[in-house]
Amino acid sequence: MAGELIDLDALVQAGGADASLDGGDQDCGSGLLLSLTSAMRRLEPGQVLAVGTRERSVLVDLPAWAGLAGHDVLEVVDGMARSGGGRSEWLLRIRRGGLTPGPQFTTGDSVPLGERLWLQTNFHCNLACTYCCAESSPKAAARMMPPELARVAVEEFVAGGGRELLLTGGEPFLHPGLGQIVAHAATLVPVTILTNAMVFGRGARRAMLEEMDRDRVTLQVSLDSATPDLHDRIRGVGSHARAIEGIRQASLLGFRVRVAATLGPEDVTQVSALHALLDHLGIAADDRLVRPVAQEGAAEIGVHISLETIEPELTLTVDGAWWHPVGITNPHLKISDEPVPIAPILAVMKDVLAVQAAGTAQGRSVFRCT
Ligand code: SF4
Repeated sequence: MAGELIDLDALVQAGGADASLDGGDQDCGSGLLLSLTSAMRRLEPGQVLAVGTRERSVLVDLPAWAGLAGHDVLEVVDGMARSGGGRSEWLLRIRRGGLTPGPQFTTGDSVPLGERLWLQTNFHCNLACTYCCAESSPKAAARMMPPELARVAVEEFVAGGGRELLLTGGEPFLHPGLGQIVAHAATLVPVTILTNAMVFGRGARRAMLEEMDRDRVTLQVSLDSATPDLHDRIRGVGSHARAIEGIRQASLLGFRVRVAATLGPEDVTQVSALHALLDHLGIAADDRLVRPVAQEGAAEIGVHISLETIEPELTLTVDGAWWHPVGITNPHLKISDEPVPIAPILAVMKDVLAVQAAGTAQGRSVFRCT
């Protein structure tokens, strides 16, 4: 459709979309959102809706709504200027499958701010996954968090009521000081390490793993599919088999193993087969997480992340503090250039939440009819 306005029904007949909606001159506040939501609910994940509208404000408001609702804006043709604003149309194609969790994606309650802390132990990784929100790879700068900095951060976090620590990367097991970080933190709070499970098979990293406290340390392993096709396409040839071997090893060593899959809308059909594999591997139902790709870091498409759309989870790197681990490369989600002390960072996050709550409360009033 490169820049050309076309008939929406013709587009559907030609197979360029699965359904169409003529929004007329409605804006998002006067009915278009209801029409859009109804139309999207009639589609399956991955199907496309073509939308036409003559209302200029929709050009701004519809992408914002799509981000909140979890739809991708695939293409926009803005024809407003071509006919003096009279009858011009512009088209959107929207793909369902994102922030609004479908039945395939794991849901959960938000965690009160200050109870969960993420430490990005390092940014380098043995893999270079196509959707990596941290833009990690073997060539990425390591940016390793010194154990002493982790110690200071964790102690302040726990003193302030923190209850759960998560370590992520990059691949945390590439950090030679990971064992030191975990040994200290696990005495204060339960620790989960996010890993691709490919690098602790032997040698010093195996010894580091074996030293960890099985009662206080959980391993969360990335595994995207039951067969290598999808997983290896995203993460590299051979990575699927090695991840499964890592899961088996960690389980045999007595660790609680959680498995996390990251899927695009077109991949959710693979969830059932993945669950069958996880049954076979003995992974408990509560230890399975299926989440959508976020459009952050190396990912070109996925769920849109912003201060308004994602619950905060304080995340510290060696060089700063961030709103959420999935936004770790997004400069708009960076809170501070200093990872500690934590207290003023949490204060900023609480202030932002308070303003958001006030804005929401003011944005809608009660209209009494009874
Ligand atoms: S997604 Fe995980 S395993 Fe893949 S490159 Fe990023 S940090 Fe490494």
